[in-house]
Amino acid sequence: MMTNDIAGTATIARAPATARKVVLRADNLGVVFDDGHRRVEAIRKVDFELYQGETLAIVGPSGCGKSTLFNAIAGLLRPTRGHVEAAGRRVDDATGHVGYMLQKDLLLPWRTVIDNVILGLEVRKVPKPRAYAIAQELIRAYGLAGFEHAKPASLSGGMRQRVAIMRTLAFDPEVILLDEPFSALDFQTRLLLQADVSRIIAERRKSAILVTHDIGEAIAMADRILVLSGRPATVRALHTVDLPRVGRDPVALRTDPAFQDYFARIWADLEMPS
Ligand code: ADP
Ligand code: MG
Repeated sequence: MMTNDIAGTATIARAPATARKVVLRADNLGVVFDDGHRRVEAIRKVDFELYQGETLAIVGPSGCGKSTLFNAIAGLLRPTRGHVEAAGRRVDDATGHVGYMLQKDLLLPWRTVIDNVILGLEVRKVPKPRAYAIAQELIRAYGLAGFEHAKPASLSGGMRQRVAIMRTLAFDPEVILLDEPFSALDFQTRLLLQADVSRIIAERRKSAILVTHDIGEAIAMADRILVLSGRPATVRALHTVDLPRVGRDPVALRTDPAFQDYFARIWADLEMPS
């Protein structure tokens, strides 16, 4: 089955949404933090489906509950209401199904590049020779050959984020979750990595959820964009992004009138009073 529609290749017809396989579903999610002293409602009601092979961006203003939603999707936080299902199972039991990558790369500073890439494989008890072979293939494919034995401190921010994405890909999760993965990087590196990571996700036929406050990042990387309200988060809008992206120069992409049109529409969604 051809699911790689991120490539935007004209010869591949986009299957109608109803025919596409759902790989992850959030159903009536609500999250309230309550420590007995203070009650914070972070998420009121969020529902969505993630289709196989697509990247879904979730955008919303800072503090609206994006990281909370991310944690619930990753199975790191149990929602107060509703649930998240991946491959027909609740995410808190579906270990290994979802791989995630955060804004801070969280590489272990005392480990080399290759030993950081194999981390998830090690945890899953993959034999060392096999783990190193997988890591080496990723390192070569994604432009870090020669840096296998370097320590993270000697790499640029962009290179560290590449190592982080390789580590996420190494154990071959069906769904990749990204929480503001590029926001700590300088502008130029960010645009280049957005393009890189989009291409990697497409090449590996992964499905991904990108959580970000950056509208441009969402348009540059996602097939669909879910717009959240301010806290407590609810769904304001859902846009389908029909724009050729992969292999395109990041600046050309951003100056495309269609890109700017999406930007204006999502900006207006975010400006709506709660
Ligand atoms: P975003 O990622 O969109 O910036 P967050 O999900 O981090 O937003 O936070 C949403 C709201 O929930 C904020 O008001 C934050 O202070 C609150 N919050 C997040 N985590 C906790 C927690 N563990 N306990 C209490 N409040 C929290
Ligand atoms: Mg956040």
